[in-house]
Amino acid sequence: MADFLCDAEDALGRAKAPSPAELDDILSRAGELKGLSLSDAAKLLMIENEDALGAVYEKAAEVKSAVFGPRVVLFAPLYLSNYCSNDCLYCGFRKSNTTARRKALSPDEAVEQAKILSRTGFKRIILVAGEHPLYSGVDYLIKIAEEIYSRTDMRILHVNSAPVSVEDFKRLKSAGYGVYQCFQETYHKESYKVLHPTGKKSDFLYRLSVMDRALEAGFGDVGIGPLLGLYDYHYDALAAIAHSKHLEAKFGACAHTISVPRLKSAEGAEIKDAPYPVSDEDFRKIVAVYRLSVPQAGVVVSTREPAKLREECLLCGASQISAGSSTEPGGYGRSTGGIPRDRSTSQFHLGDIRPLPEMARVIAEMGFLPSLCTACYRSGRQGNNYLHVASSGNLNELCTANALLSLKEYLIDVSPQPEGREIIEAALNRFLEEFKGKLKEDVKKKMKMVEKGERDVHY
Ligand code: SAM
Ligand code: SF4
Repeated sequence: MADFLCDAEDALGRAKAPSPAELDDILSRAGELKGLSLSDAAKLLMIENEDALGAVYEKAAEVKSAVFGPRVVLFAPLYLSNYCSNDCLYCGFRKSNTTARRKALSPDEAVEQAKILSRTGFKRIILVAGEHPLYSGVDYLIKIAEEIYSRTDMRILHVNSAPVSVEDFKRLKSAGYGVYQCFQETYHKESYKVLHPTGKKSDFLYRLSVMDRALEAGFGDVGIGPLLGLYDYHYDALAAIAHSKHLEAKFGACAHTISVPRLKSAEGAEIKDAPYPVSDEDFRKIVAVYRLSVPQAGVVVSTREPAKLREECLLCGASQISAGSSTEPGGYGRSTGGIPRDRSTSQFHLGDIRPLPEMARVIAEMGFLPSLCTACYRSGRQGNNYLHVASSGNLNELCTANALLSLKEYLIDVSPQPEGREIIEAALNRFLEEFKGKLKEDVKKKMKMVEKGERDVHY
């Protein structure tokens, strides 16, 4: 077993919920933005007491704000293909699901979907596919990236796809992919084996080492996360933190994102209910502990979760959320507000179907700044470089400026409904006024450039 899993297991074996004095001590260390030890993280994960959890959430919100400022990054997935040669018991795309209507987008169809998302306001999307040698292999993903980049104004494509070799990762990176994302599902080897009985994905260690290969191949940014509900969350969440620490020790950069996917019931899945259910309160605790333990990582909450919980997560450390998602290949443009037209092609049932304009409005109403920014990828702030800027605290100011510019573009090009527009515009103006001196003047100058029609203006 990988050393980092042994470390997580050891830390959890010794962990008890902290005393009030210990908690104060841990939270004050978390405030230094250097992350927490596995032993501290394990203690936080053991907390059940409401007041203690309240203190953890408060500190997580503080740390999120110190690292990322007010911004909340919005993105959307683009599902390319639901063909799959694996048989993950919980997934609607699994091979044995004979009721699934299979679909792999042609390059033209993928371009069409990307154009729809771009018109909606997304300039960063994550491509998602089942694992299949023909319908989602590396050649297919490269072709799709080439077509989307050359035929649309999409600025950055991330990808959530099956693990591959270092050589194939190099090819994917050359095609222009930004973040490589892959979920371990569970870090508990025995449960993993039961849940992934056949296919390439049944190789636990090959999946566990996927990020080492991606980083070795030159992917600066990788996204990790266990699928909550498959095993005891205390172990899986701590193992994800240990995984990020392992990557940081070996490659100099923590996980770029830690996602918090939670098992949803899926049409045609063998397992409908989570073997280890994770309550909403536990979910928030996990979000907050990720934030405190790996402060520079984006913590991502998807539309799997219900609206209210997603908003609560923004108050305890989450920094990225998807919006208006469809998990059906070809689902955009055929559905209303992200409701899949056809459940037999979608991956799982969504918890939050609010489209982008509504999410942007809600984020602004909560006092945050909706961001559709892609600047880090345009300016080479990835991997070590990103971590360096994030740790120095400069990311906060830069990103706020970039988020404002991306929002300005959104307001001009997409023009959401009047009521939402006013709220988003007010947030934009409020945050703009908070800048000081020269920077404020400079951001205003850049805003004018956007008003005059320049696009992709950023720092
Ligand atoms: N096929 C690739 C893989 O499994 O890594 C990538 C795409 S897969 C569609 C993306 C993720 O969806 C999986 O890693 C898994 O965590 C998640 N997923 C699968 N079934 C799910 C379900 N029923 N509820 C929530 N998430 C699910
Ligand atoms: Fe295939 Fe991924 Fe679904 Fe497993 S989770 S069945 S690998 S699409």
